[in-house]
Amino acid sequence: MLTTILYIVLAILLLTTVFIVVRTIIFERSFGAVEKIEGVPVDDQQVAEHLAAAVRCQTVPLDEEGTPDPQAFEQLHQMLKETYPQVHKKLKREVVNGYSLLYTWQGSRPEHEPVMLMAHQDVVSADPSEWTHPPFEGTISDGFIWGRGTLDIKNQLIGIMEAAEILLQQGYKPERTILFGLGHDEETGGVNGCKLMGQLLKQRGVHLAGIVDEGGGISAGLVPGVRGVEALIGVSEKGYLTVEFTVNSKPGHSSTPPPQTSIGILARALTRLETHPMPTHLRRLRPLYHGIGKAAPITLQVAFANIWLFGPLLKRWLVPNPEMNASIRTTTALTIINGGVEDNTIPAEAKAIVNFRLLPGDTIADVLWHVKRVIKDERVKYKPVEGKFNEALPTSPSIGPAYKGLHTVIRQVFDNPPVAPFVMLGGTDCQHFVPVCDNIYRFTSLVMDESFRGLEHGIDERIPVEGMGKMVKFYAQLMQVWGTKEMVIN
Ligand SMILES: [Zn+2]
Repeated sequence: MLTTILYIVLAILLLTTVFIVVRTIIFERSFGAVEKIEGVPVDDQQVAEHLAAAVRCQTVPLDEEGTPDPQAFEQLHQMLKETYPQVHKKLKREVVNGYSLLYTWQGSRPEHEPVMLMAHQDVVSADPSEWTHPPFEGTISDGFIWGRGTLDIKNQLIGIMEAAEILLQQGYKPERTILFGLGHDEETGGVNGCKLMGQLLKQRGVHLAGIVDEGGGISAGLVPGVRGVEALIGVSEKGYLTVEFTVNSKPGHSSTPPPQTSIGILARALTRLETHPMPTHLRRLRPLYHGIGKAAPITLQVAFANIWLFGPLLKRWLVPNPEMNASIRTTTALTIINGGVEDNTIPAEAKAIVNFRLLPGDTIADVLWHVKRVIKDERVKYKPVEGKFNEALPTSPSIGPAYKGLHTVIRQVFDNPPVAPFVMLGGTDCQHFVPVCDNIYRFTSLVMDESFRGLEHGIDERIPVEGMGKMVKFYAQLMQVWGTKEMVIN
């Protein structure tokens, strides 16, 4: 009897092990290295000077609504015209709503859908007092170009222009039409720039085969558990939902309080929301670890190939990391609370604001249902705040020619890093092109290490001169690959 049980247990163990191994073999993948390319000839120093000139145009919005400064944009547009004569001679240039720019590089095979490369012209403000070099002087020093916008995202704007100018000088003609979509108010939501550009393309019946906008980069330490450098392509963006919570109760004197005041009722509801977050969806991370493949340690490959078994372990490992936690669930952040003005008076009303960031797959309706279920208190009223919600964006495929072409170009230019898809935690201008494009990728072609942390929107924003030169090579190669009718290298 005992032996029979032992045999059964052994058989189950053996079968499980075989199942785990087979799943891991199916899951993991190794990429053959692609051949590194030299790329177009780039004069790094000259490119640096062009970026510095763009930095000197202070395209900072004049207010929170994103009102553009006409002079600054005029200066930037003029600078582009003078610096890139071929682009301005051979491409069609349209101004959308006064400041955004749409360039069209007509392809020889117009029956194929166009592709679009994006960057935005606006930058956030900068207080010069703590900068090593003033933020709008465009200083080139110690191997860096310093200034606001050098990482977000005039580097990309100049990278695109520079690459096009070089290819035009070489006589390159794309088969597919290539568009450059350069918004002017991304930092304030893009509603007056790229939103209108997206509508314009839709009106014209244009459908795009692929978009590359700012986003993930190439860096070490981006993915927990993975050593070495990896390139991440943003394939989706989280949604946004701000909810206002209100509790009204009878006001009165604090000498004779009721068992619960409006503040107490609201506080309990908020605590429950914080301690009952939306559920995790580990499977959303599978494409990331699948893309990284053998660059991930074998333990992680086994675990992600077998979430059915190792899910709880993975969760315990990932949830304490705020970025990974935000990558596997809709997050809940209590951001504003108000109630009461005097120490001896029970307030009639208490209010709070909670900001949720929606994982693709979770909808606004799902979150509101979750809120109702968790709070379970009719006295707490809540509603989404007008203009402060949008669903998560659809996920672009990590297969197909557009993704494959981009994937290959990254590996060619940056010497074969693993390339994987991920969900962007913040939003960009490309959201406005969802109605005209299914293959939207967010990728900034720059190798970044720890020293870049906090520079975007921060003090001493700067980019290495050499990194800027490489960005030009990346765009030139992407234009040549996405510019073919196949969008991939044969
Ligand atoms: Zn940006």
